[in-house]
Amino acid sequence: MSQPQTVDLPLAPPRRSDAPVLAADIVERLTYRIGKDPRVAERHDWLSATILAIRDRVIDHWMDSTRSTYEQEHKRVYYLSLEFLIGRLMRDAVSNLGLLEETRDALASLGVDLDVIAELEADAALGNGGLGRLAACFMEAMASVDIPAYGYGIRYVNGLFRQELHDGWQAELPETWLADGNPWEFPRRESSYEVGFGGTVDTVGSETDGTGRCVWRPGERVIATAFDTPIVGWRGKRVNTLRLWSARPIDPILLDAFNAGDHIGALAESNRAETLTRVLYPADANPAGQELRLRQEFFFSSASLQDILRRHLQQYDSLTNLADKVAIQLNDTHPAVAVAELVRLLTDVHRLDFAASWHIARDCFGYTNHTLLPEALESWPIPLFERLLPRHMQIVYAVNAIVLREARAAHFDEASIRSISLIDESGERRVRMGNLAFVGSHSINGVSQLHTDLMKETVFANLHRLYPDRINAKTNGITPRRWLMQCNPDLFALVRETIGDAFMDDAAKLVDLDRFADDPAFVERFSAIKRENKVKLSNLVARRLGIRLDPDALFDVQIKRIHEYKRQMMNIVEAVALYDQIRSQPDRDWVPRVKLFAGKAAPSYLAAKGIIKLINDVARVINNDPAVRGLLKIVFVPNYNVSLAEVMVPGADLSEQISTAGMEASGTGNMKFALNGALTIGTLDGANVEIRDQVGRENIVIFGMTAEEVGTRRAEGYDPASVIENSRELSQALMAIESGVFSPDDRTRHADLIRSVRERDWFMLAADFDAYAAAQRRVDGIFADKPAWHAKTVRNTAHSGWFSADRTIREYASEIWRAG
Ligand SMILES: *Cc1c(COP(=O)(O)O)cnc(C)c1O
Repeated sequence: MSQPQTVDLPLAPPRRSDAPVLAADIVERLTYRIGKDPRVAERHDWLSATILAIRDRVIDHWMDSTRSTYEQEHKRVYYLSLEFLIGRLMRDAVSNLGLLEETRDALASLGVDLDVIAELEADAALGNGGLGRLAACFMEAMASVDIPAYGYGIRYVNGLFRQELHDGWQAELPETWLADGNPWEFPRRESSYEVGFGGTVDTVGSETDGTGRCVWRPGERVIATAFDTPIVGWRGKRVNTLRLWSARPIDPILLDAFNAGDHIGALAESNRAETLTRVLYPADANPAGQELRLRQEFFFSSASLQDILRRHLQQYDSLTNLADKVAIQLNDTHPAVAVAELVRLLTDVHRLDFAASWHIARDCFGYTNHTLLPEALESWPIPLFERLLPRHMQIVYAVNAIVLREARAAHFDEASIRSISLIDESGERRVRMGNLAFVGSHSINGVSQLHTDLMKETVFANLHRLYPDRINAKTNGITPRRWLMQCNPDLFALVRETIGDAFMDDAAKLVDLDRFADDPAFVERFSAIKRENKVKLSNLVARRLGIRLDPDALFDVQIKRIHEYKRQMMNIVEAVALYDQIRSQPDRDWVPRVKLFAGKAAPSYLAAKGIIKLINDVARVINNDPAVRGLLKIVFVPNYNVSLAEVMVPGADLSEQISTAGMEASGTGNMKFALNGALTIGTLDGANVEIRDQVGRENIVIFGMTAEEVGTRRAEGYDPASVIENSRELSQALMAIESGVFSPDDRTRHADLIRSVRERDWFMLAADFDAYAAAQRRVDGIFADKPAWHAKTVRNTAHSGWFSADRTIREYASEIWRAG
């Protein structure tokens, strides 16, 4: 676009993709791009060459997507997220382009195994968990349902840490996903923007004649440079862009200082800039005082908005129609400062008046809330906010004045007004990012029906009263391409053979499988595939941990971040209780069970790290006790990430979704398991409620308190000690743990963990324990009745199509973005 198009430039012809052409291309890339002789190339070189050859095919579709009049005329969606938990991309791209067999054959003709090199691709972990994985699923789904969309985030040099276990304790090692280069990305030096911090705000012009305006003169500036990754939709229909920002200094080196001998000072600016995009913040790290985090949030928000405005102006020459052509979704409050930044850009830089800017901003933004936990709601101390972003502080106050005026006009009492205010005045004064995101958005959505209802009753009760049309529910989804087609190719093939291809474009059509749930021939093949996936998972466990698993045992899987509210602790305490029972009644007909865990704990979250150690301590004792051999095993698989989930989900019989009701906003792991034919044992929390509605209550095992009951119980004054006293199994299990049965080398190691259950039990493990243990025995009963079990697993797959991210994205598009 930078040069006038006076000549009709020739377009590169699209590449052919049959296996021989692909093979020749791969060799060409290997030779000329990587500079390796095919005869000495290592597996990693083959991987890079293959990605480059595939990437060329992606580019053909990418250019088509951006050139199309559809793209030019439709509203563009911008998804702002501080996290993208992408995982590997090659299989995704190849499979969405429909080139899986061609690529496999091309590589085979070169003596290379696709599955072997695919395993070498770095797992891009630019996120902590569900929220980041949602952003990645959404990117793929937006391309699949043909929505012109850009994802914006940060290109962290070090993603989420790599987890090792050292004597059962979590050890954190740096994740170096860029170490071998990243053949997917395109650096875009030309798409660079200045982002400022600190400094002063001046007023220029005259207030009285209307020419007055504010000018922010930052004290510090860095350059944001774009790195683009193409995201291919299903059937290659559309290729969208994931644009990640990297920070670099304006002056990489201060030569005068360097020449004067100040080598460190000369590079200080450079180091400071590069620190900005060095590391992903771990979830649950105490947000207070983390200036770098606020800098990251502003950095990527500002760069993204400047990019959005530049693209819009290039096409339309005016910003007054911005909201007709641009929808910006805030994935949680991390990019909430974008609300103030857009108002600043529109008023101070583009000279719109404040009221118009404010309305445009609100019409552009939508905000997705992911948590009600008070400690996870972001807020920033005013002195910090004001020092880093002095102009934005003024804008926040100005916006707050508007909102509070509206609340007073609606006769809100003082307490309600205090809760609505963008400024928390209750202690140290802070800016509330959730309230800023709320008032700056025309739509605020929860990520499941239950979570949305709770939002209206709790954190946003008063804002909801003031703006009753804004809150809506958009239940999360997962992309069925990655989470069925790619991770479970045999099941995918069986489904295709059984009900035809329609489900590949509309996951809801999976429901056609329902009538095969009682068909013995189909069920036999369905269960044989599950068993084969369990063998693959067992092989992974044997390889990594040297533990042998019986693929005919019940594989009971809990994989997710380690958090007290997710209650991995309840699961391991139940394992201890079961261990006790098996030993005391060895002749009962026990269903052999393997409990598998995986998940990372935030490095500063000591209780979560204690839970990992407890699981490993219990595992060591149980796995070495001949009395339960073959009946109970415990496995903690280290370094949970997307690639590990892709093996563990298809290999699961039972999916553990056991959070304290009201605390898991949605969950998406729960959806992956159901889609792959696992039964859920779960509480009525988050999307579990909707999974029950979809698969039917007879095909899911629900136990425990509802969110409402949790609330009532708390209000009445919950006393865990008396609950524990009344449960023989629970008291014995807790006593065994705290007396050191599982930690003979340090008998008091787990005493604090158990004491917190006895004294406070905020997550109500004790209150739900008996119901949970009973539910587990119900699971045993069903598992022992193979036809009944298999029929239920088939029905889980058949009725999980609704959880396709395509459905979620269509809802966002029609109800929030009004796009597509
Ligand atoms: C799906 C997924 C999550 C989210 O899991 P929940 O059980 O919903 O918390 C987290 N991490 C990874 C790697 C995932 O694939």
